[in-house]
Amino acid sequence: MTYKFQQLPQLVDKRGKLPSKGSYGKRANGVKSITTRVWHHSLTKLSAGGSNIVSFANFHVGTNGWPEIAYHLVIDPNTIINGKAAIYYCVDISKRSYHVGNSNTIGLGICVIGDYRTDKLSEATIRSIIDLHKALMADGIGKYDKAHNEMPGYSWKACCVFDYNKAFKDVLSDMLPVVKQPDLVPGLYTVQEGDTFWSIALKDGKEGITVEDLIAANPDVKPSQLKVGQTIKFGTAKNTYTPTPETPKKEQSAYKYPLPSEVLKTGSTDKAAITQLQNALNAVNFKCGTADGIYGAKTKDAVTRFQKVYLPYEVDGIYGQNTKNKLQAVLKSKGY
Ligand SMILES: [Zn+2]
Repeated sequence: MTYKFQQLPQLVDKRGKLPSKGSYGKRANGVKSITTRVWHHSLTKLSAGGSNIVSFANFHVGTNGWPEIAYHLVIDPNTIINGKAAIYYCVDISKRSYHVGNSNTIGLGICVIGDYRTDKLSEATIRSIIDLHKALMADGIGKYDKAHNEMPGYSWKACCVFDYNKAFKDVLSDMLPVVKQPDLVPGLYTVQEGDTFWSIALKDGKEGITVEDLIAANPDVKPSQLKVGQTIKFGTAKNTYTPTPETPKKEQSAYKYPLPSEVLKTGSTDKAAITQLQNALNAVNFKCGTADGIYGAKTKDAVTRFQKVYLPYEVDGIYGQNTKNKLQAVLKSKGY
């Protein structure tokens, strides 16, 4: 049978055409075994020689001793077909290839060539990620998407660090102007990341609205504990002046992702500070799950992964001054 993904115009069938030494076995229940589309990146820089499927196949077969290349599907940003990155169909999806050890039976291996700790996803690449994802969903191949390092036993992997969910959802959101969602109910405001009562009064408030007016209109809301997505009332202006902050010095609260200055680790209890850290880690694609203010295993793991990449001599899973400085720099490099 021919699947929809096989009909994508940028798909090139490479099954049986890459270096190999035999063949992987079939999955126990064939294609029905696949529950999870596992996203990888090759961790080889796009500009490096050897960032291609033949080299990967040679490595997996020659060095690792596997029968074939590890991945079923490979997206190659260096080869453009109809304005989109080429998608190579390398191993038949009915086969149990080796890409995620204990989960090979249920996993479909998809690799985006590049090292996304430093490389950037191109528009052509994002378009192919979206096309492939849509087609696989339409074909009913897999139910879930996971990064390699979200699979059991692989949290230590720096694969993949690109935000595959973001790539599926927001078509090129990084490249297109941000469209701000209008508030549906006049007089209400939905709190955005980084907002304070100050910023809301200054940039979003109706004429003359002050911080005091916002506090008065929202007696149940603690100004220090605004949550993204929370709805607040603008209220009515009681004063005729709009106050301005006294000193325009760049405080942490002026950043989109303010960073706490205290040391945070397993057992820390400052929920607001931990939430800030979690939001910042998620923003730079060191995913720690929902920002819940709890320094649990996921948060410690995200800090550890961040340190492995940016502070390799200080990998302890504890957020301190050096981690803060690096994280600030990485946020800045991403335009935050
Ligand atoms: Zn991987």
